[in-house]
Amino acid sequence: MEKELHVLDLTIEEIHSHLLNGDVKVSDLVKKAIERVKKDEFNAFEAYNFEEALKEAEELDKEEVPSDNLLFGIPYICKDNLSTKGIETTGGSNILNGYIPLFDATVVTILKEKKAVLIAKATLDELAMGGSGKSGHKGIQLNPYDENKESLIGGSSSGSAVAVASSVTPFALGSDTGDSIRKPASFGGLVGYKPTYGLISRFGLYPFSVSLDHVGYFTRSVDDAALLFDTLNKFDENDFTSSIKERKAIYPIKNNEKRKICVIKEVIDSIKDEDILSRFNYLVENLKKEGYLVDYVSVDPSILKAIYPAYIIISSAEATSNNANLDGIKFGNLKEGNSYPEVMFNTRNEGFSELIKRRFILGSYALMSENQEEVYLKAKKVRRVVVNTFNELFEKYDAFIGPASPTVAPKINQASDNFDDTYLIADNYLAIGNFGGYPSITIPLGIKDDKMPFGVSITSPIFKDEDTFIIAKDCENILKMKNLSTKTKSIILKNMKEAQ
Ligand code: GLN
Repeated sequence: MEKELHVLDLTIEEIHSHLLNGDVKVSDLVKKAIERVKKDEFNAFEAYNFEEALKEAEELDKEEVPSDNLLFGIPYICKDNLSTKGIETTGGSNILNGYIPLFDATVVTILKEKKAVLIAKATLDELAMGGSGKSGHKGIQLNPYDENKESLIGGSSSGSAVAVASSVTPFALGSDTGDSIRKPASFGGLVGYKPTYGLISRFGLYPFSVSLDHVGYFTRSVDDAALLFDTLNKFDENDFTSSIKERKAIYPIKNNEKRKICVIKEVIDSIKDEDILSRFNYLVENLKKEGYLVDYVSVDPSILKAIYPAYIIISSAEATSNNANLDGIKFGNLKEGNSYPEVMFNTRNEGFSELIKRRFILGSYALMSENQEEVYLKAKKVRRVVVNTFNELFEKYDAFIGPASPTVAPKINQASDNFDDTYLIADNYLAIGNFGGYPSITIPLGIKDDKMPFGVSITSPIFKDEDTFIIAKDCENILKMKNLSTKTKSIILKNMKEAQ
């Protein structure tokens, strides 16, 4: 039987109306969130901000709740590769153990101004490289939907996904270089969003691969994701890649004017799970009933199969160069040595795990002058071909949609971050969103065997973030899975069954 719900189990919008009514105080929410962080069984947290959060909550309790600021007093969690002033930020890597930033990432600053309350920093795959939630220095993050504790939540934004899925907070910040928000969102039954490249500031994000990195977040509803978008979608002079385009508010999400969307046949063909496929068909049928045009289109499979290797080359090359500053000397976890090269060697050798070293070796290989043409530049050309292909599709369609993962969350021993030569299309196609800088969202699609959730992904052309949200909201209305968490699962299952 479902245990009684707490206000914290609701969406940001709903929590806000309870705050407005005065039937809950900010300190009630913050205390509950802290209690849940302390009880965490899934290894979701790196560092804590309890004292500061409680102090802030007490101050906020004295203020009148503003009706036009929905983030006022809302507790949240932040991935530990976003700088937080005065709070240790390790990026999940031993090389940054003990490093306390002197400034906040811009997204953290904005949320502070909005009076959202930071509760804790979340675990991640080391320096955001990885997709398993197994590679960070704190070990494995577990999926809260698996009572036997045998499944992964996926990464790299693993702790943030756990926090929102297990209802510690209604939202959490993450980062997405290949799929690191949208894949764990699928495994955790969440809304996971990454914006158009350049819309949300990356100042204070530890760079992994700067041409692919995006800051985004997890929520439990599309409306919550849209309201956060309006909050964070701001030009930032500290971020050289921040777009100078004028920003337009998109919340509350407008009604749809019958969208045209497509499904990539090859993605569907590479999925074997019948439950995922049938629930996806259910969604497509219902979108058509709502007046959507849904076409199944073919994309050359050799282009789709080239995404993973191109991604690995480009991201590893950029990671090698972006992380060259981690030598323990300017900051971080310095190791002894008799000379500068020895200090560097010891610090980096002990500071990085095998996974990171493998990527640096590959990245260095790709960047060596004798290999550049053959490896690095070729990967960049592949990226261009992929982006051209999808830009062409976007001339006809407002979005492409497909299951966000070909399976539910893998078991602990089923997934690794070793390089893979199977190039499974459905496992890697979310990186198209990073190649092209397209806005892309995962929302919950179904729950396999009433147990493990899986998601659907929607991707639109650049700067059409509003379309992504409009389509996502229509899908959410059809699927009846709004505000899914481990706390609300049985209610959601009932609603889903009634609707089907
Ligand atoms: N899983 C991908 C990787 O291993 C994506 C990581 C990410 O988006 N940060 O690099």
